[in-house]
Parts: sequence; structure tokens; C-alpha cells
Amino acid sequence: MLDFVTALVSWSAVSLAVALVLLVLWRRDRASVYLWWGAGFLLCAVGAALLSARHQIPDLLSAQLANFLLFAAFGCWISGTYRLDGRRLQAAAFLPLPLWLLAMTVPDLRDTFYLRTAVANVGIAYCYFCLGLAFWPRVPDAPPSRQVMAVILLSGTAWGLGTTVLALWLQPQDFAGFALGWADGLASVLVVLAMAIFGGSLLRDRADTGWRRLALSDPLTGVLNRRGLLDAFASRAAAGGGPAGTALLMFDLDHFKRINDNHGHRAGDEVLIAFCRRVEGELRPGDLLGRLGGEEFAALVAAETSDLAVRIADRIRAAVAAHPVATADGQVPVTVSIGVALLPAGAGAADLPLDAADGALYAAKAAGRDCVRLADSREGDIAIAGPAPAGVAATQGGR
Ligand code: GH3
Ligand code: MG
Ligand code: MG
Repeated sequence: MLDFVTALVSWSAVSLAVALVLLVLWRRDRASVYLWWGAGFLLCAVGAALLSARHQIPDLLSAQLANFLLFAAFGCWISGTYRLDGRRLQAAAFLPLPLWLLAMTVPDLRDTFYLRTAVANVGIAYCYFCLGLAFWPRVPDAPPSRQVMAVILLSGTAWGLGTTVLALWLQPQDFAGFALGWADGLASVLVVLAMAIFGGSLLRDRADTGWRRLALSDPLTGVLNRRGLLDAFASRAAAGGGPAGTALLMFDLDHFKRINDNHGHRAGDEVLIAFCRRVEGELRPGDLLGRLGGEEFAALVAAETSDLAVRIADRIRAAVAAHPVATADGQVPVTVSIGVALLPAGAGAADLPLDAADGALYAAKAAGRDCVRLADSREGDIAIAGPAPAGVAATQGGR
């Protein structure tokens, strides 16, 4: 049967190996989750090694310091999991540290093996609980490994509390006299292994998501690229959030070549970025914005009627024209022409009316720019929305 010391030594060795891998990964791409988890496994490795040397080194090291390091390890794992999700760190992750130091100032708790074990296991139960909660999936498309990991960790809470009760009941004098001691050690090894395996798959999912985001977004403006916009629309259509009540807005910045010529390419880039931020400021949650290429963009917005779609487009047009963009080459006035096409009811993911919106955009350019034109999808030609002169809103009012 696996004895307690062997379990602790294996626990320490596995932790050390995982710590080294994570710290190497952290050196490579500096994501804080690697640092937190790596530090956690390192502390766990030292803590478990100290625990395994019970009776060979003073209790101050093999009990008090060892448990302190294990609590600190959990604090790091919990913090790393929060960072993985981009959430703020929680001081509660490190709560057991001061409480443990406080408990160790009480001579009875410090010097009586079973009482000290009971206190330590209450702390460990708390740690498993916090880590389990941190792992619990918070978004519907979270990888399944997260839920598996959360359940394993939350069951660690029951294990910690069970061990506490047994320690108080059996009142063992040392690990050898504690029937559950070896099983406790084995459980810890398994949890650390599970952390390493499932944590590894979580980090891989994270890297995949990072690459995917990179492939689907425009590096200059940060909005979706053409493929990202089409993919996002297709997956929304597939998920049932279909095209009914959606309008396609196609944007083309006016005389953008002149902006480049007069102010330089860099100022042109700044204008493209500022344009996206202004459009985003006018969109609602769930609307999509993408760069089709060059100074052409498209948005998919929720709009039940063409009247509403044109009003939204005109609000965006007005927001863009309202102030010049501050660039390194000074203030640059910017205007945009917009073509609008309503998606036909029952349209599939492949039926984005890009041509219709493009035709309407062409009409807006022909009408003098800085205006909005609507494609009449039934007729396949262009309906003029609002008064035509350049610089005048095509329609009035907002959403
Ligand atoms: P119109 O009002 O008819 O749309 O005129 P325009 O000058 O905006 O249109 P045109 O298609 O002639 O010019 C588009 C310019 O956009 C040409 C190209 O150099 C510039 N451009 C494309 N991509 C970028 C970019 O990423 N950064 C910058 N600064 N300029 C870009
Ligand atoms: Mg263009
Ligand atoms: Mg243009």
C-alpha cells in the first residue's frame, strides 16, 4: 500500500515538474496565469516536501511552514484561475494564511497533532471550495474540462471536512496513527494531477481562443475582419438568432485617399481607428462591426424596419462627422457614406445582402457623400432615404 511519505514525495515531485513547465511557458509569453499557477505548484512542491520530512526536521518547518506554503499555493492557483478569465484578484484567496498563523499562536492547536491536522484540513477544505468556484464555468461555451475540474475540486472540500471530523474523532497522535493519512496524501496527489491535466487543456483552449481571435480580427482597428464578421453572423444564424430584424450597414470613408495624401498614412490609420471607436459608441450590445478592407467597414445591427435601420445609420454618420479626429498631424475632419440593406426574413447565413448594401453605398457616394442610402431589397434597386444633399442627414431622429 502507498504510505503517506511516498504519497507526499510523489506529490512534491509532480508539482515541481508542473511548476517548471508553467514557469517556462510564462517566460515565453508572459501571461500572468502561468506565473500564478507556476508559483502555486512551486509552493506546493516545497510544502509537500517539508510535510514528508516530518520527525526529521522541526515541526516549525514540517507542519507550520509546510501548511502555510500549501495555503499560499492554493491562493496562487485561485488567483491564476481568476486571471485566466480576466477577472480581478480576490484577497479571500489568501484568507487562510493569516488565520493559520493566528491559529499557530495558540499552543494547544500548534502542539497537538490531531487538533493541528483538523485546523489545517478546515483551511484546505476552504481552499478547495474557492478553487472549485473559480473553476466553475461562467460562460455557456466554456470547455467541458472546466466543469469536470470544478467538481473534482469541490469534492476536495468534502474530503477536507471529512478528514477534519475524522481527526477530531480518532484523535491520532501522528500520521502513522491516522488510518486515513495515506489516503489523504493519495487524494492530494490525484488532485494535483487533475489540476495539471485539466489545467493543461484549459491553457490550450485559451491559446486556441487567442489564435482564433487574432485570425478573425483586424490588427489595426481591433474590430472583426471580413471573415470574422461573416463567421460571427453565420454562427449567430446557426444558433437561431437568425437574420430576421437585422440590417447590414456598409460604410466607406469619404475621400480617404486625400486624408492620406494631406496628412500622411499614419494619420490615416489614426482616423480609421477613431472611426471604429465612434461607430462602436453608437452600436448596441449584440451588434457587430467589421472591416471589409481598406477604409470600408460593415455593421450588422438589430433593426426591425428599414426606417429604423436608416435612422441608426444616420446617427452613426452624424457622430462621425460631428468632430474632426485628433491625429499626430492635427485635426482631420472625417465623413462617411453609408449603404443600408435589410436582411430578408428567412435569409440564411450565406445570404448577407452585401451587393445590395454596396449598391446603396455607391448611390450615397453619387449623391455627394456624407449621407445614407437604403437598398430596396424587394425591387433590387436603391430607394432614397431622406433628403439627398451632401452633408445633410438622410433622416432625422435616433433610436
Ligand atoms: P471615396 O470617397 O470615393 O471613397 O474616395 P476614397 O479616396 O476614400 O477612395 P479610394 O478607394 O480612392 O481610396 C481609399 C484609400 O484608402 C486608398 C488607400 O491607400 C487607403 N487605405 C486603405 N487601407 C488603408 C490603411 O490601412 N491605412 C491607411 N492610412 N490608408 C488605407
Ligand atoms: Mg473605398
Ligand atoms: Mg472611400
